[in-house]
Amino acid sequence: MEQLSFQKAQQRAEALRTELNKYAYQYYVKDQPSVEDYVYDKKYQELVNLETDYPNLITADSPTQRVGGKVLEGFVKVIHDTPLYSLNDVFNKDELIAFDERVKKAVGHSVSYCCELKIDGLSISLKYENGLFVQGATRGDGSIGENITENLKTVKSIPLRLTEPLSVEVRGECYMPKESFVKLNERREEEGKEVFANPRNAAAGSLRQLDSKVTAHRNLSTFLYTLADFGPLEATTQDQALSELARLGFRTNDERKLCDTIDEVWEYIEAFHEKRNQLSYEIDGIVVKVNDFDLQDQLGFTVKAPRWAAAYKFPPEEAETIIENIEWTVGRTGVITPTAIMNPVRLAGTTVSRASLHNSDYIEKKEIRLNDTVLVYKAGDIIPEVAQVIMEKRPSDSTPYEVPTHCPICDSELVHLDEEVALRCINPKCPAQIKEGLNHFVSRNAMNIDGLGPSVLAQMYDKHLVSDVADLYALEKEQLLTLDKIKDKSAENILQAINVSRENSVERLIFGLGIRHVGSKAARILAEHFGSLHDLSRATKEEIIELNTMGETIADSVVTYFENDEVHDLMKELADRGVNLIYKGLRTSQLEEVESPFKGKTIVLTGKLLDYTREDAKEKIENLGGKVTGSVSKKTDIVVAGEDAGSKLTKAQSLGIDVWDETQMIQAIETSHLDE
Ligand SMILES: [Zn+2]
Repeated sequence: MEQLSFQKAQQRAEALRTELNKYAYQYYVKDQPSVEDYVYDKKYQELVNLETDYPNLITADSPTQRVGGKVLEGFVKVIHDTPLYSLNDVFNKDELIAFDERVKKAVGHSVSYCCELKIDGLSISLKYENGLFVQGATRGDGSIGENITENLKTVKSIPLRLTEPLSVEVRGECYMPKESFVKLNERREEEGKEVFANPRNAAAGSLRQLDSKVTAHRNLSTFLYTLADFGPLEATTQDQALSELARLGFRTNDERKLCDTIDEVWEYIEAFHEKRNQLSYEIDGIVVKVNDFDLQDQLGFTVKAPRWAAAYKFPPEEAETIIENIEWTVGRTGVITPTAIMNPVRLAGTTVSRASLHNSDYIEKKEIRLNDTVLVYKAGDIIPEVAQVIMEKRPSDSTPYEVPTHCPICDSELVHLDEEVALRCINPKCPAQIKEGLNHFVSRNAMNIDGLGPSVLAQMYDKHLVSDVADLYALEKEQLLTLDKIKDKSAENILQAINVSRENSVERLIFGLGIRHVGSKAARILAEHFGSLHDLSRATKEEIIELNTMGETIADSVVTYFENDEVHDLMKELADRGVNLIYKGLRTSQLEEVESPFKGKTIVLTGKLLDYTREDAKEKIENLGGKVTGSVSKKTDIVVAGEDAGSKLTKAQSLGIDVWDETQMIQAIETSHLDE
């Protein structure tokens, strides 16, 4: 890029910052993405380049300051000027009514309550001076917390600059969304690391990282709900205070409700007791506050807590059952994972009979044995976990559980790699690992080959038809017909699906190869940048790290992968068998030039399409700048309804969303074009 004059660069950087901060606000605070990722990524990269050329341009509120920086040696203590109070807990309706009675007696009349969800995260306090974020701290014991400013800067829903130049201290909760928690634990299990018991522990662990770069990758979010001192704000009630916080740029929770009677409060509590599993974050109760600040002042505090608030705690959702067996399975990377097979039990709306025990350390730490009676709960409201063994119920003839020393599939000796809690089978020819690798290769986000389920692939491997992924492309119909349950028609369908996958753009192949740490998003970024598998195989570690969002771990893993001669043999085999090794998607630089009715729109496909598969239509629309999602909501712009469209079509009609038929979609795809 040509060097800009300093003044021009300054103006451009300012414009980019404003724009990027606006996008981030819409995405992370309002949950309403306004642009596609590639638009953000491109502008972000431009700002990074400008700031590299002119380091003086870096400001405290630049989005580039959110990626994490220097590694700390320890956390410094922070004394809270105004302590963070804790709330009195109530556990049932009677205690709630007693709370209301005390309030009414003290003020002499009935009052309105502001009810809010009690987010199960970590309490934080954020200080702003003249509108700029200057310090973030944990709650600690309420009086003394820890300075975690660097980590909180990476949490994108926390504004680095307020909409007004105020000096305030704001309080709220930092949490990990359930979905991020599940993904994080899946990844950690696969990498042989310890898993987190619940989203709250995961959030706490993420905020207490001395290296803020780690925090930056943990996808934390926040809800802010109060101030240390309301002085600068024009709010006379809790409800208004929340609106004011939102106006200043903070993320606040929209589920709050103003209730005029304690019966209404109870209805709200019951409603969310039902709905809590459907929220994208974990809550552990409901906070009930006297809404009016004057009345709050009048009620004051006890030594422990405010008299004007109570925290209703949901009863824990736990169930008792017996561990009947422990199964060990071998994953794609050789990690072997134990699963408890339990006597089926009802838990938070579903029947639970299996729970991952994660690794052998976990079994030892919880002292789990066969035939033990255990308490189970759902981590993140989704994943069944064993909370603890009920020791009193342990059978008298019980003996400690013996962890296997050899792979349950190939019988080679298991090892503990450095710093890993997992046991691994390190035999590269372990059939279980190869089969898992094949499953991954054909999966939806990888090569997307229909008809090759785990049992078909396992048979192919066992009958020596396939020993690596390239062998799939040499399969013949006669061979397929030797497999169980594969008839003429299904054999043809499988061959057809394999054939179609030859043409996939190379990011699918890169993901499908199962290079450690390379997920589908990283695969796409690598494919887009390097253009082909061959160019990627020659990339240096430095070239990969330079790419936005690629860390050292991915770079190391990619380079190491391609150092292996066998990988080059595999690449040659794939190429010889007609598998495409080139990136076919649009480069992000081209995407800006796209003119199409899909650009910037959110589209839902429903019903049966005749001319396209769902996947094809999705890919085409996404290449034309649209975003394809699974469910219809107010944010949906267009619903494409194929044959026999059902409830999604009905919902679209009730919301007044544009409905297209397949022909309209095809026309739109065909008439869209790229400006060269
Ligand atoms: Zn093995």
